[in-house]
Amino acid sequence: MIEHDTIAAVATAVGEGGISIIRVSGPQAIQAVDHIFKFKQKLSEVDTHTIHYGFIIDPKTNEKIEEVMVSLMRGPRSFTAEDVVEINTHGGVIAVKNVMDVLLQQEDIRIAEPGEFTKRAFLNGRIDLMQAEAVIDLIRSKSDRAFAVARKQADGVLSKKIKDLRQFVIELLAHIEVNIDYPEHDVEEMTSAYIREQCDKTITEIDKLLKTANEGKILREGILTAIVGRPNVGKSSLLNTLTQENRAIVTDIPGTTRDVIEQFVTLNGIPLRLLDTAGIRETTDVVERIGVERSKSAITDADLVLFVLNNNEPLTDEDKQLLETVKGKSVIVIVNKMDLENNLNLEEVKPFLLNASIVKMSMVRQEGLDQLEQAISELFFEGKLEGNDLTYVSNVRHISLLKKAKQSLHDAIEATYMGIPIDVIQIDARSAWESLGEILGDQAGDSLIDQIFSQFCLGK
Ligand code: GDP
Repeated sequence: MIEHDTIAAVATAVGEGGISIIRVSGPQAIQAVDHIFKFKQKLSEVDTHTIHYGFIIDPKTNEKIEEVMVSLMRGPRSFTAEDVVEINTHGGVIAVKNVMDVLLQQEDIRIAEPGEFTKRAFLNGRIDLMQAEAVIDLIRSKSDRAFAVARKQADGVLSKKIKDLRQFVIELLAHIEVNIDYPEHDVEEMTSAYIREQCDKTITEIDKLLKTANEGKILREGILTAIVGRPNVGKSSLLNTLTQENRAIVTDIPGTTRDVIEQFVTLNGIPLRLLDTAGIRETTDVVERIGVERSKSAITDADLVLFVLNNNEPLTDEDKQLLETVKGKSVIVIVNKMDLENNLNLEEVKPFLLNASIVKMSMVRQEGLDQLEQAISELFFEGKLEGNDLTYVSNVRHISLLKKAKQSLHDAIEATYMGIPIDVIQIDARSAWESLGEILGDQAGDSLIDQIFSQFCLGK
């Protein structure tokens, strides 16, 4: 384990709440808390993984500052693999501030940087970089499924797959090495055929992982979805239905650079990022009648267009004009207002969107949502979102390193056909090995590590 100084931070969200937790980690953690914590024993003498009731005091005046529960986890059986003490205070800003003040008055203890606890878990070898990144995903996930995917990654399921790939490449490197060092040695002849076979095998496995990348990205980030249609067909009603069902988790996406506003919702577990939701609400009473210009940027960005039509009215020129703008996109046609008389001829719609699936809905009756979910699943998850294995590569960093490793293996194969010397081919194989290692954080540079952990929130 690497020796670090001792750090402290509030681990719970800032604001009012039942309790707040201050987390302390490092070689001085137990001693530092012992100094300000009064209870019937000494913290340094209690068993690991126990919790104790007592008071935080100001060591200078002996004045009681806060009533707390303190738990102790001695390293390496802790989140950071160091000694960790957690102080449960009353919720709210003041209790936490007062306890932090007396804690940080002591020498050898400082406030933690964002992500520093998880960074220590990584630097101390308790988790690899891929698992650490999953911790960010766990915190940020907005749907059950995205959470479950991150959970698996945090458990190391994906790391294991990357380690298996590295094992293939190590075997290859070992054979090459022996062949270079002892060309006369009586080992299996390092033939080009062997290199090709081993590289092919590894590429096939990399491809299997890369195939999950698209779905993984969608689960993690949500399907960018534009709701399009002329005024009064029911766009706001659809939007309201989706957001009402998700009242607990509807979020505006922060930090987005586009002009349009996004909202994150889930439809039976499918995460959707709804684009330009402000625009939809506006068009009902804004002069800009069909809002073609406005929808255009949302349509360009969208992975999915939900095109809403009114079952009660014949197809209008406005509908046709808008239908033209979504050609070439993944479109699901929603025929809304099925509770009203049918005046829409769907045959007129089909020429615009040859393969689009059509879902009949009534927002007034709240009908058709399951069919909509099914149609989206078919488009993005080959119709089987529920039963899918949850091992997805979803992180862009991982995806690009997998692609890099694959390229190096292709280069190695090509080199064998060109009769290039084995020690040159070794360079390609080594570079594949390094790219795969980088995913797990082997030989990751300080700047990369800092950049990854800076995305965390304070206290994690
Ligand atoms: P938008 O302009 O496309 O956003 O349309 P709205 O959602 O504002 O709906 C326009 C009108 O149609 C409102 O009066 C809604 O109550 C009504 N409406 C929406 N969906 C349905 C539906 O399924 N059936 C019926 N009968 N009316 C609906």
